Amino acid sequence: MTEKRRQTEEKIRCDACPVMCYIAEGKVGACDRYANENGRIVRCDPLTILHRRVEQGGEIRPFMATEWDGQMVGGDDVFVSGVGSGTTYPDYKPAPFIVSREVEGADFITVVTEAIFSYCGVKVKIDTDRHLGHEAATVRAEGEAIGHVTTSEYGSQMLSLGGVEHLTGGSKAEGRVTCDALLKLCNREAVELTIDGGATVEVQAGQPPVVDGHREERMRVGCGSATIGMFASQWHGLVDEVVVVDDHITGVVSEHQAGKVLDWPDTGIRIKGRRSTPGRYFQVAQPGRGWGGTDIEDPLTILNPWLAKKGARPGLTMLMVSTTGEQYGYYVLDDNLEPQPAPLPDTLKPSVDLIAENCEPALCTVMFQAGAGGSLRSGVTKNPVQLTRSVQALKTHVTCGGAPVFVWPGGGITLMVDVTKMPDGSFGHVPTPALVAPLEFTLEREHYRALGGHDAQVRSVADVLATGGEYGGAVRAVSDTRRGKG
Ligand code: SF4
Repeated sequence: MTEKRRQTEEKIRCDACPVMCYIAEGKVGACDRYANENGRIVRCDPLTILHRRVEQGGEIRPFMATEWDGQMVGGDDVFVSGVGSGTTYPDYKPAPFIVSREVEGADFITVVTEAIFSYCGVKVKIDTDRHLGHEAATVRAEGEAIGHVTTSEYGSQMLSLGGVEHLTGGSKAEGRVTCDALLKLCNREAVELTIDGGATVEVQAGQPPVVDGHREERMRVGCGSATIGMFASQWHGLVDEVVVVDDHITGVVSEHQAGKVLDWPDTGIRIKGRRSTPGRYFQVAQPGRGWGGTDIEDPLTILNPWLAKKGARPGLTMLMVSTTGEQYGYYVLDDNLEPQPAPLPDTLKPSVDLIAENCEPALCTVMFQAGAGGSLRSGVTKNPVQLTRSVQALKTHVTCGGAPVFVWPGGGITLMVDVTKMPDGSFGHVPTPALVAPLEFTLEREHYRALGGHDAQVRSVADVLATGGEYGGAVRAVSDTRRGKG
């Protein structure tokens, strides 16, 4: 027998994904999730249970599952998550754990698995006024296209990353880099993204975005018009004119409805841009990284000459401010009716500070989005469409690592989850490439039987903790971050 052949024979095959790695004793497979431990394939991460009585952020890792504190095995307090559970790819067999537990006197089943998602993506919301790139511009990681810019919402730029086009529809490098970027984003690590024709932005779930090296602090309080509406009364009597400079809607208090109800006098100001309704202007400048998400550094460039016949006069005062209060300027009209910069009076400082105070912290939000496919559903029931119908009818509750998910209406089980609500390190990957994410389906036992569930595979929580599963018996408990009941 050759040395090579002997080595191959000592390796054992992992069947948890289509890569089918041969793993040598003491080594891990290509995804780092499974190892060969004493001639047995085991899941490297322990099965994770969520426990209400474990303090926030706390973690208990039992030395031996059989020494588990009996107190911890109560149904209502304990939720077995998919994290570390393993898979049953290709799901011709029941999910790795189908666990029964009592919740408020009723018998519930939770079906637990780690699903392999070849067709998933993330939606990223970046709270920033700064222009990141035009709609539909390509978003790149390590130079590879991994998604695109979608809409700009009122204080945020939205990105759509991943999906079948990038994971499997492009080159091998594109798929690998996309999978890597999604994995990091979902596990709340920082990823640097570049946008064609736009900015470089560092994105990390739950952290402020860093745009071209500038760490964002505040999310805008609203558009320029909304800011006028909120604070017009605070400026009344202290200044003759206020302009809130904004890429979306620039507001002018003397013309705005909010000013009108305060009997604010005309000032003869004239704004460049497309007038929408009184005191509300679109397109005063190009999008950019300057004042209010525009490309301007000097706000006076959005003004046309002032009109004396409409109220302009020497000595008239004006405050110009951005929607975050980060930029502001105070001006006085000279004898030629041209605004000249002047120090901000102390009386106006509190109103500028109030804008800043009303801004919320700028954050990046990462929502994992995926569809629980047909083969995965057969790990839950012998009649998979019944599961879909049950989920759509809200009879089966879906969670990701115990976190509540939003299930889209329409066909299939397409779900979206905030990754910051999930336990640390919930996501994995396989090199096909695809992301791996925990998934749990919870439903009443009677209903589970009715929809063709694998009732013979149901086990108690205590049995799961004591004897583990096909891929080992390591268990850990972390605090329950769920907002609802499983
Ligand atoms: S990539 Fe991971 S899950 Fe897939 S066969 Fe290899 S070790 Fe198993």
